[in-house]
Parts: sequence; C-alpha cells; structure tokens
Amino acid sequence: MFQDGSRSSGGGGGRGLGLLRCWQIQNTLTTIKFVILCGFVTILVLLGTTSFGDFGSSNADDADNQSLVNETNSILAEIPSPSDPENVNEPPPEVEINVNATTTYTLGPKITDWDSQRKVWLNQNPEFPSIVNGKARILLLTGSPPGPCDKPIGDYYLLKSVKNKIDYCRLHGIEIVYNMAHLDEELSGYWTKLPMIRKLMLSHPEVEWIWWMDSDALFTDILFEVPLSRYEKHNLVIHGYPDLLFNEKSWVALNTGVFLLRNCQWSLDLLDAWAPMGPKGRVRDEAGKILTGYLKGRPAFEADDQSALIYILLSQKETWMEKVYVENQYYLHGFWEGLVDRYEEMVEKYHPGLGDERWPFVTHFVGCKPCGSYADYAVERCFKSMERAFNFADDQVLEVYGFRHRGLLSTKVKRIRNETVSLLEFVDKFDIRRKHAETKP
Ligand code: UDP
Ligand code: MN
Repeated sequence: MFQDGSRSSGGGGGRGLGLLRCWQIQNTLTTIKFVILCGFVTILVLLGTTSFGDFGSSNADDADNQSLVNETNSILAEIPSPSDPENVNEPPPEVEINVNATTTYTLGPKITDWDSQRKVWLNQNPEFPSIVNGKARILLLTGSPPGPCDKPIGDYYLLKSVKNKIDYCRLHGIEIVYNMAHLDEELSGYWTKLPMIRKLMLSHPEVEWIWWMDSDALFTDILFEVPLSRYEKHNLVIHGYPDLLFNEKSWVALNTGVFLLRNCQWSLDLLDAWAPMGPKGRVRDEAGKILTGYLKGRPAFEADDQSALIYILLSQKETWMEKVYVENQYYLHGFWEGLVDRYEEMVEKYHPGLGDERWPFVTHFVGCKPCGSYADYAVERCFKSMERAFNFADDQVLEVYGFRHRGLLSTKVKRIRNETVSLLEFVDKFDIRRKHAETKP
C-alpha cells in the first residue's frame, strides 16, 4: 500500500496518488529523465531562438514559447544535475528558484516594503486594529474548485466542511473567506491558495494571520485554540516533523493542507519563492520531476505546492527556517486514518480542548478527494469516515444548544437536556467560549 509509517502516524500528505500508484526506481530513472529533460530544453531553446519558431506561428505564440523556455530554463539552470551521484537523494543545494528574474513566473509586482506600508495603514486606521481584545486578528481561508464536484455527494461534503469551519470560526471570533475563483489561471488546483493568500494579505492589512485550511480538513476539536503566543517570533506555522524534513527529506514531512502565514513582507517573499513551480503545463510537469528526484517517497507527478514548499525550505534553509514553526504538539493537521475509528474511545476517555491524539484539533482527509472522481482510498470508506468526523465535531457544537447526533453516522439529532426557563444559567454553563477561557493555563 501507499501509506508508510509517516502517513499513518499523522505526517500524511498526498496528491493525485490515484493516478500514480506505481512506484519508480527513482535513483536510476532520475538520471535518465534529466538527460531527456536537457534534450527537451535544448529543443525548446532552439525553437525559441531560430527561425523554426516563426514557422506558422503568431508573434504571441513566439512570446509564449520564449517565456516557457525561459521559465523552464530558469528553474533547471539553478538546479544541479541529479546525474551527479552526489546529488541523488541528497538535500538540494542552497539554490534560489530565481525569484527575482523577470523570466520566472511571478504572483504580481514585486513588493519590498509591505511591513512599513502596513504599519502606516494600521496607524491611519485605528478602527481596524490587528489585535482585537488581546488576540491577533485571524482570517481563515478555504476554498474549492470553481465548478461543481464530479458527483453531488462531493458538493454535500463541501457544504458540511464549510459548515464545520463557519461554526469553529464563529465560536472563536475568526473571520472566514471561501474562495472558488482561480485568480490566476496558471495556478489551478492545490496551487490556487497562493495568489489568494497574497491578495488577502494585501487587501486586509488589519489581518495578522492568514490561516489556510483545505476543504477536506475538518475541525474536530471545537474547543481547542491555536496557541498563538508560541509563534510570536515565527511567520509560518505548519504541521510536520523536523526529522522527516531534514534527515529524511520526505515529501510528507510537512502538510500544506493547513497552515498559518503571518501578514508580513517575509510571507510575501516566501510566496514569491514558492510560486514559480506552480504554473500548469510544462513548468509544473518539469518541476515535478525535479521534486521527485530530491524528495524521499515522492511518486512521479507534476509539482504540487507541498513538495515545492519542502524543497524550498530544504534548499534555502538558512533563508527561511528561522521563521518557520514546525508544529507537532497538537494536530494542526491530523491524518484521518488512525483517528476516525477512535472517536468513541476519545469520547469515553478524554474531552475536547486537548487538540492532540486524545482529541485531534483537525482531521484531514488527505487522498480522499471528496470533490473529485478518483481517490487513493475506497470512496465508501472516505465518505463514511468524513461523516463520522463531521458528526463528532458537530456534537460539540450542538451541545451548546442541548442536542447531539443519534450516532456518529446519523444525521438525526436527539435532545441531551431538558428545556429550562433559567436561561442565563445555561448560557453561562454551555457557552463554548467560556469553556475555553476556563481551560486556558
Ligand atoms: N482547491 C481549491 N481550488 C481548486 C482545487 C483545490 O481551492 O480548484 C483546494 C481545496 O480546498 C482542496 C485543496 O485545494 O482541499 C487541496 O487539494 P486536496 O485536499 O484534494 O489535496 P490532498 O489534501 O488530498 O493532498
Ligand atoms: Mn486536503
């Protein structure tokens, strides 16, 4: 099976694995692939620089070809040949993926002074403070493809997923944005989050943290709050395992399904460094080969945002890691397998507010692709597990109002306490915000 220990222990991450079940003997193939790749790039360069490029094509096509050549070249030029035995499965060298070159794909005009611009704006707009009641302002961003899911049940689970997020955000004073637009056609699929995060940062200077959460991830501890004070000196908070990252170079060392990014210049720079592998088509395909060559366990497929981030953090460790908090003390992302079958046990033994394996903060259905038509797991099992996770969480919400689901697979609810006329007493007793205040250290 595809899952290794790291995935089932919660370090999960998976992209389009259904299409990519066959493992490759990477070390041998990488060399061959690189040779082919070099040949391919050479042909592209020739086409772009000789009269062949003019044959039967418009000026616009020429420009497209040329920019494609440049983009592919700019990525490849800075990455040493994996045919050098020293480089195979070794950490990538400290390279920049050409963030400043005009030929490399960019998310927009280069911004260099966001911190000072934002500071000025915050001073001029005291009615929009970045800290409200002592808490940094957080905006949770989630989203799904622009069109309907492949099957109606997919849309049903997208709805449940956003209901779950609205409940959590409402109870914790977090703003929420649901994005269905591909702001940049080049960055479709899992790359869509990047341009949207950038836009939100620049359009909402009052927001301190943008919190990305995949549509297939659910809050399963409605009481738990992210311990923001722990991250005062950090700009990116992401679930993962340093050992898997730095020693194993594993492609599932971090999970980009859920992360927090501070609204600051550093984050804009990170997005700039992160995006160039994203443009769909050849750039994404070729970059995927590079990522597969370097990251342990990565199947051969187009570049995904998770592998690209891991690659950047490994290859430019000195530049970025000081400000990255790799979190694993609680499940900012919790891999669903191994969690969803234990909810009854959790209810019996523990209580919400813990956030870790005793009561996972987030359960993420990596590889289930609820909105798509293929998945790495049996569809039935995915939807059943999502139903259980949703109801497990929803029970925590409904408890405030005196109800609970009849079972973790039931959409029906039952009353759990009698109606009362001493209303205010119950407001105080069951208000989840108050509970959280009580459980704080
Ligand atoms: N997504 C999006 N727009 C799209 C396609 C995907 O916003 O057009 C988001 C969606 O929230 C999805 C996430 O990208 O959950 C990442 O994809 P997925 O969860 O399927 O990847 P996995 O977690 O299985 O690796
Ligand atoms: Mn996901």
